[in-house]
Amino acid sequence: MTAETHLFHCLQDNFGVLLHDKASGATAAIDAPEAAPVDTALSQKGWKLTDIFVTHHHADHTGGIAELKKRHGCRVTAPRAEAQRIPLVDETVAEGDVVRLGELSARVLETPGHTAGHIAYWFAADSLAFVGDTLFSIGCGRVIEGTPEMMWASLLKLRSLPGDTRMYCGHEYTLANIRFAQTIEPDNLALIARAA
Ligand SMILES: [Zn+2]
Repeated sequence: MTAETHLFHCLQDNFGVLLHDKASGATAAIDAPEAAPVDTALSQKGWKLTDIFVTHHHADHTGGIAELKKRHGCRVTAPRAEAQRIPLVDETVAEGDVVRLGELSARVLETPGHTAGHIAYWFAADSLAFVGDTLFSIGCGRVIEGTPEMMWASLLKLRSLPGDTRMYCGHEYTLANIRFAQTIEPDNLALIARAA
């Protein structure tokens, strides 16, 4: 277990995150909202980008791919069902496939709903999951291409992961999500505590 992560802000409210394997030096960006903040994060950490793991095709998750690939020659892994809509894909993956980063390995989980081909990357041995725009802090992604039932099944799949799994999501929406949740459950003590 040699995984290290680095979280930073991109665009208006996107999260960027780097995953680094200390053993091999391999480093992946999970999605690429824009190139410059990813490059800044890489130089802050002294890491070299070897991979981009894409969760879904939206432009605010793929807009930095072309520039990063040109600069670093990194390998782009993306959901098979959306590969046509994502630039410069090297490898496509689907449910159950194993994705490697140096000595780290992830299982691909299909989590459709926000988009029809959305995937998450679950690094079981390192208790990490990168869930893109499926699950957020106090909320979930907008159901754009799928159905609510499809999204719910995806959320149940994420809920079934071990309780100590650290989940990295694609956006920071916590305060807005709390405001909405409190209109539904104003007396929920957990929600009140989280809001504070
Ligand atoms: Zn999205």
